[in-house]
Amino acid sequence: MPTPGEGQVLLRTIYLSLDPYMRGRMSEGPSYAAPVPVDGVMEGGTVAEVIASHHPGFAKGDFVLAHSGWQSHALSDGKGLRKVDPKRAPISTAVGVLGMPGMTAYTGLLEIGKPKAGETVVVAAASGAVGSAVGQIARIKGARAVGIAGGREKCDYVVNELGFDACLDHREPDLAAKLKEACPKGIDVYFENVGGAVFEAVFPRLNPFARIPLCGLIADYNTIFGADTATPKWANSIMRAILVKRLNFRGFIVSDFAAMQADFLHDMSHWLREGKVKHREFVTEGLASAPAAFIGLLKGANFGKQLVRVGPD
Ligand code: NDP
Repeated sequence: MPTPGEGQVLLRTIYLSLDPYMRGRMSEGPSYAAPVPVDGVMEGGTVAEVIASHHPGFAKGDFVLAHSGWQSHALSDGKGLRKVDPKRAPISTAVGVLGMPGMTAYTGLLEIGKPKAGETVVVAAASGAVGSAVGQIARIKGARAVGIAGGREKCDYVVNELGFDACLDHREPDLAAKLKEACPKGIDVYFENVGGAVFEAVFPRLNPFARIPLCGLIADYNTIFGADTATPKWANSIMRAILVKRLNFRGFIVSDFAAMQADFLHDMSHWLREGKVKHREFVTEGLASAPAAFIGLLKGANFGKQLVRVGPD
């Protein structure tokens, strides 16, 4: 166990957040962030307890949001740490609905999607960390929310617990026909989380001037970050439709909207307290469970925000 030096704290990890972006850190392919080197500590957001401090800003017993990665303990010089108040909300929410995934939903939907009352917003991975918040915020703004998720149980949760107007199972046949039924006026905002076959079903239903916050492409991560770089054959027809329908696709990384952090925390805390936004966590026990849980996340084995409980809270 390392001993903290002057200006350092020693952290004990309680929760490790598992997030799809980690797949990109395991590849040397071009990306917006450098890969984790072989033998490096796999990166990841964490909620941790300060167990020893030689830093004036942190005391033993403080809970903090850190980025200390897949490890049980870590030294920090305090840079990038944010105190988490356990009286305000359960500490795990700092990496979930009140953290990076919640902020991704809030900023991408409101800054790029700009849903208006009465419009139709579609989001896939709708029971997950980002998608669940997207649909609920869309409803708060007066739009219709249609989710897409893997399996009946997830779809029932999305409609009955989260209050989406409809949810379709992408594992069932005829997603395109069912989308047409569920979105009789077409799709005004498609919050893109997955790509692949879901995108192919959604694309023809996009209305002229639709907005598409391009957040993630989890269905294709193993292809994108693997060896297959062939241009998909449908790329040309999609480019033509983007032009003809004047679609507004915009890729984003949540850090682009860092200036909205205070607004996000204010609004989301409010919505949680009022019961307007609900969330669900999917927790596996022990650091050793992280690799299998991460592989499961890429296949839809998680039902809610994927966390690993590394130590007792
Ligand atoms: P989730 O909690 O939603 O978990 C991932 C889910 O993706 C799975 O549960 C599964 O849900 C779905 N999925 C996996 N493979 C497929 C597939 N082939 N087709 C359809 N759905 C699939 O993860 P997050 O909410 O953390 O992330 C959602 C997306 O947002 C990801 O693409 C991620 O990379 C992106 N993201 C982007 C950020 C940014 O800054 N741009 C920041 C944070 C996240 P189901 O069983 O319902 O299919």
